[in-house]
Amino acid sequence: MKRYSAFAIAREAARYHQGWERAWAARAPKKKYDAIIIGAGGHGLATAFHLGKTQGIKNVAIIEKGWLGGGNTGRNTTIIRSNYLQDPSAAIYEKARSLYETLSQDLNYNVMFSPRGVIMLAQTHHEVRGYQRTAHANSMQGVTTEWIGPGRVKELCPIMNIEGPRYPVLGGLWQARGGTARHDAVAWGYARACSDMGMDVIQQCEVTGIRQESGQVTGVTTTKGDIDCDKLGIVVAGHSGHLAEMAGFRLPIESVALQALVSEPIKPCMDIVVMANTVHGYMSQSDKGEMVIGGGTDGYNNYTQRGSFHHIEETVRALVETFPMISRLKMLRQWGGIVDVTGDRSPILSKTPLGNCFINCGWGTGGFKAIPGSGFAMAELMAKGHSPLTEEFGLNRFREGRFIDESVAAGVAH
Ligand SMILES: Cc1cc2nc3c(=O)[nH]c(=O)nc-3n(C[C@H](O)[C@H](O)[C@H](O)COP(=O)(O)OP(=O)(O)OC[C@H]3O[C@@H](n4cnc5c(N)ncnc54)[C@H](O)[C@@H]3O)c2cc1C
Repeated sequence: MKRYSAFAIAREAARYHQGWERAWAARAPKKKYDAIIIGAGGHGLATAFHLGKTQGIKNVAIIEKGWLGGGNTGRNTTIIRSNYLQDPSAAIYEKARSLYETLSQDLNYNVMFSPRGVIMLAQTHHEVRGYQRTAHANSMQGVTTEWIGPGRVKELCPIMNIEGPRYPVLGGLWQARGGTARHDAVAWGYARACSDMGMDVIQQCEVTGIRQESGQVTGVTTTKGDIDCDKLGIVVAGHSGHLAEMAGFRLPIESVALQALVSEPIKPCMDIVVMANTVHGYMSQSDKGEMVIGGGTDGYNNYTQRGSFHHIEETVRALVETFPMISRLKMLRQWGGIVDVTGDRSPILSKTPLGNCFINCGWGTGGFKAIPGSGFAMAELMAKGHSPLTEEFGLNRFREGRFIDESVAAGVAH
């Protein structure tokens, strides 16, 4: 595949952009692969990418029932940070954040990583204690974050009202190298790199069954026929329960809709990401100028991938005391995705009761930020049977009570 470069842009400009190749090939499925990944979201594609790049397994298919990146990967609000509390989380999220720093170069695809800084606001005394504790934990884990006072918060985000009557801003947990990236570009960049390695990205192909023999996976049944494989990775976020049922085991996962909305585009007014977990709201400004706004999950389990009026009202009401300017903004559009939530708000990257079948799910409301690290670790797990980064995230932790409690870092946040 031809590399993207300034020279390529100049060359194509000179010939009326007639020479660009398709970014990834549209191939029919082969009879058999060394590994199949179900789900062409960010996590599935990154897993396939690292199977090829770091583990040398390139006879791989990524099977997607819709279009690639059309699940949560293309629906999220793109916040990237690694300021989690527990050591295993800090390790995998920081691995991911650091891989984002060079992802555009590694994929030869501009993912528009923008390390503009992320603040998690403390608006109760309980949160002050919680975030100061996280800042201490992060310094032990080698994750660069700091506790900052209200004056510094105001300096970083002048449009904020820090003296709200209900929830004044008491400070915040600041991660200067957190930020955002372009979600579609992450999926497209990985898909292009996978295709370039000879892997097959097969879209509009739903997996409807998982075939097995003597406790080992042998392949999948799809709407495009049966495909055999030696190893299988299930990476389908909100549909994980269905796929696990096909494979014959159950997961401690709930699926629930998470919504977001954007305003009309306005002039640049905010160049960091702000999360306000007490009131359940967070906001950043996109490169187009839209204010990107998100809140908490729906209060009941569902598979609805669309927005609802009550969510706009609840989320904007939550944020308006801290950001009075949004009371005068028109909202442009809203949407939803089906997120996969575990009891301890930590992901599952694990072997399963079915031999050679692996699962990566449970990222819930906050898995976009983890995509590069999760793909790296999941590929190692699938190739070698173990990975230092996934060790604590096995399914057995729910049976053994070894929870990785991230409800403060991930409970309502992203
Ligand atoms: C509104 C919203 C805001 C969010 N904000 C953030 C944020 O700011 N920061 C952050 O870090 N995270 C955020 N998240 C969470 C993040 O989007 C997800 O954790 C992450 O994208 C999950 O990626 P994935 O690859 O596991 O899943 P997905 O991107 O959902 O991919 C799974 C794929 O599997 C496919 N699939 C399902 N069943 C089958 C089948 N039977 N056969 C074939 N294919 C199948 C689906 O079609 C889908 O494309 C947000 C999520 C939402 C919904």
